[in-house]
Order: sequence, then structure tokens, then C-alpha cells
Amino acid sequence: MPWIDGNFVPTDHKLPVTNPATGSAITQVHLGDHQLTENAIKSAAVAQKEWESTSPLQRGACLKAVAKHLKDHIDRLAGLLTAEQGKPLAQARGEVEYAASFFEWFGEEARRLSGRISPHPERSREFHILPTALGVAGLITPWNFPLAQGAKKAAAALAAGCSIVWKPSEFTPLVALAMGRIFQECGLPDGVCQIIPGIGSEVGESITSSEKISIISLTGSTETGRRVMENSSRTLKHMSLELGGNAPFIVLPDAELDKTAEDLLSLKLLVSGQVCVTANRVFVHEDLLDNFVDLLSTKLETKMIGDGSDPSNHAGPVIHDDAKEGINRLVNDALSKGAEIAAQNSNFEDDPRCESGSFSPFIIMTGITPEMRIANEEIFGPVIAIQTFKETKEVISSANSTPYGLAAYVYGGDLAQASHVARSIDAGIIGVNEWRPLKAEIPFGGSKQSGIGVEGGAEGIQEFMELKVISIPV
Ligand code: NDP
Repeated sequence: MPWIDGNFVPTDHKLPVTNPATGSAITQVHLGDHQLTENAIKSAAVAQKEWESTSPLQRGACLKAVAKHLKDHIDRLAGLLTAEQGKPLAQARGEVEYAASFFEWFGEEARRLSGRISPHPERSREFHILPTALGVAGLITPWNFPLAQGAKKAAAALAAGCSIVWKPSEFTPLVALAMGRIFQECGLPDGVCQIIPGIGSEVGESITSSEKISIISLTGSTETGRRVMENSSRTLKHMSLELGGNAPFIVLPDAELDKTAEDLLSLKLLVSGQVCVTANRVFVHEDLLDNFVDLLSTKLETKMIGDGSDPSNHAGPVIHDDAKEGINRLVNDALSKGAEIAAQNSNFEDDPRCESGSFSPFIIMTGITPEMRIANEEIFGPVIAIQTFKETKEVISSANSTPYGLAAYVYGGDLAQASHVARSIDAGIIGVNEWRPLKAEIPFGGSKQSGIGVEGGAEGIQEFMELKVISIPV
């Protein structure tokens, strides 16, 4: 049920929430509609004034209490995440910790907000330049990290003094709704955090078209980003968009192959490759190809894919059958144009519990060429699609040849060379010999069509603030 003004509010429109590992419904969620969203936004606007007037120290204390609560209840929240999203429990626990790190970080950052005084041309005056909360923030999040994507946005917005109206994905609304009570128990006044599950074209568009919403912070596909930007343009909102990626993963000739293969596999096992920063295009130096593929294949064989609630599994299902079919189409297109499957792991087929789940095999493909769809589109699934290269100049040019610029990975022994390659790539974040560089302490955002603005770091809070200048007699 939508969480509005500190209560769960029943509605007439319900939708089942499905466990993607079993295909069975976990529960029914009550969805919001246009009218309910408008009312929620109105009271969020009233609550925001009170919230903004609290001291930054007090706001920070609430956020740090949220972080503690998440860590204290990690097992319950991880269980919920696994049930509705499908990721293995260990990954779900990692997501809860990651979410908590943003509440901790922005809980600290709240007290570091400061303005400045600037000299006025008239000696009897001075300018006070004050960062001010934007107002009500509309947060729209996807299903791959149902808690962490919301946490990044909510923590920064609340620290800045904004209230939030959060629409989680209709596929994974449960952990977001669980946050309602947590916010309340941690001292956030009712109305400051409204959480409304619903359909993008209804609740999402009510948020993006509302005059009372000052900023939209969306994580989603680039297509949704365009739509949201278009809708928001009528009321000229601030925009923070974290959109699709097509990350290159480059294996230079002197890369340490075992670690590189291990890291690549860890990256693809995370949420079964349904991550915006996952390795989408893997470029391996041609001299390394056979060894690298052998290593990867051997490692892949040892991984268990199945129901995430079983701790022995390393990866879970994809989010739904449509996602599975989308991945199949990309694989089949590549096969029809000459690519080959070097290795495949479908061991979920041995587990009768997974029969009705949305499982997609983990596949290593070679012979990928630039004209294949898989080399240009976000796979968003457990497929490692390998291309080869000869010269460093050539791989830099290939890596940059997409409209996306979210993440990239460079593996190599000579750090000066790896750093040169990393600096030559147009992407918001680049890991050199590292597969998971994202942390609350650093700003993360995409370049090109992967987004606008950043989340995290000292900069993340600024997304939810604007400057007010007061000319004052002295
Ligand atoms: P979508 O773009 O389909 O949806 C994201 C959110 O936007 C959902 O809550 C969705 O609601 C909502 N939405 C859809 N249409 C509208 C609309 N017209 N107005 C307002 N809201 C709308 O993405 P997915 O959920 O499928 O997530 C996968 C995509 O997200 C991938 O492309 C991935 O790259 C990207 N992503 C980007 C990340 C980043 O940090 N850059 C991180 C994670 C994912 P509903 O569920 O009802 O459709």
C-alpha cells in the first residue's frame, strides 16, 4: 500500500508482486493513482517547509539512525530483496549495506552545508550566498537495486532539506515500502517521505508533471529518461538522470588473467548482469583470447545459479520472462551473424524448484563483431560477449563508439598504460583493475546519453539544492 503521511493507505487497484525465482506471487501491492499522488505531493510540500527548517545536525541524526536501522535489520530486508528481486541473499545483504552507507554519508554531509559571504560593490552592503533546498523531490527508481537506488537519492534529498515522493518500480515495491516505517521510526516527520508504488505512465507521470515537484531524480533506461525529461520540461524541473550504460571491459595484453577473469565473472554474477554498470562489451587482446576464455569457462562451471534464498547459489534469475526473451533475442542475433557460444551454465535446470522461475543461462560468447545488436545494446543479462583487439588505439576508439558513457573497466599490468586508456574513455566512472568502484564517498553519474548529474560524494547533495543570494545592509 502507498505510504502517505505516515500511514499505509489502501487503494482499489492491486497488482501481484512475483518472486522471479519461483514465478509465484509473494503478495498483492496496492497501487497509487493520479489523484492519490497529487494529494501526497501536496502534503509533502507542506511537510518540506518544516523539514527544511530543522537543523542540519538534526536531519543528519535522522539519516544516521536510518543507516543503523538498515544494518540492524539486514537479514529481514535482504530476505525481502531476494524474494522480490531474485538476487542471492549475499548480494542482497551487500545492497542493504550499500544503501546504509549512503544514509551514513549524507547524514554527515548535512552538517557540512555552508554558504559564503561575498563583498558588495557598495561598502554598506554584503551578499549572503545561501544553498537552499529545492523543495519536493520526485524519486523514480528501477527494479535491479530496489533499495540502494532509492537510498542514494533519498539520503541526499533529505540531507539537503527536501521532502521526497518516491515511486519504486512496480516489480519491486516491497522493500521501498518497508522504508516508510523505518523513516518514521528514525524521526523523519510524517509527510516528508511519501512512497507510492504504481505504474510509470500513471504515478510516474503524475510526479513528473506536478508543479509542486522541483526536481526529478530518476534511475532507469535512457528511453524513460527522455520521456521523463520531456514531461518535466513543462514545469521546468531540475533533473538528475542515471540512465542506461554499455560499459566496455578492456583486457590489455599484460593483464593478470586469473584476477581479470575472476573480477569479470563477479561483475556479471551481480544481479545476473542486470546492472547499468556491468561489463557489456568485453574487449580482450587477441593474444590472450584462448587462455582468457578457458579460464573464464572453468570458473563459470563452478558457479551455482538458482533460487537466491538458497545460500549456495551465486546468481539468481532475471527479473521476468520478458527480460529473458530480450536476452535470447540478442544472443540469437549474434549467433545468426557468426558469433559462437564458448561456454554455458544452465545448472538451474537441475533444480525442480526453479522450473517456473525466469532463469536465463550464463553464456560466454566469442566472435562478437560491431554490427551485432549485442555489441551496441545493453544486454542486461548474464551474457559475456567478447570481442578482440590488436592495438590500444583501436580499443579506445571502439570503447568510445557508443552514445553511452556510464562505466568502464581497464585491466592491465602496466599502470601508466592502463591509466592512459582509462583517461581516454568517455565514462562517468572507470575501474582500473577493479570491478566495483562505486562507493557513497564519490560522485557517480554518466556522460553522453547515460545521464545528467551525479549521486554520492560531496557533490550528490548539491543536486537537491539551489543558491539564494541576499543583499543585506551591514
Ligand atoms: P525503466 O526505465 O523501465 O523504469 C525505471 C523507472 O521509471 C520505473 O520505476 C518505471 O516505472 C519508471 N517509469 C517508466 N516510464 C515512466 C514515465 N513515463 N514517467 C515516469 N516514470 C516512468 O527501467 P527498468 O526499471 O527496466 O531498469 C532498467 C534500466 O535502468 C536499464 O536501462 C539500466 O541501465 C537503467 N539503470 C541505470 C542505472 C544508473 O545508475 N545509471 C542503475 C540501474 C539501472 P514502471 O516500473 O512502472 O515502468
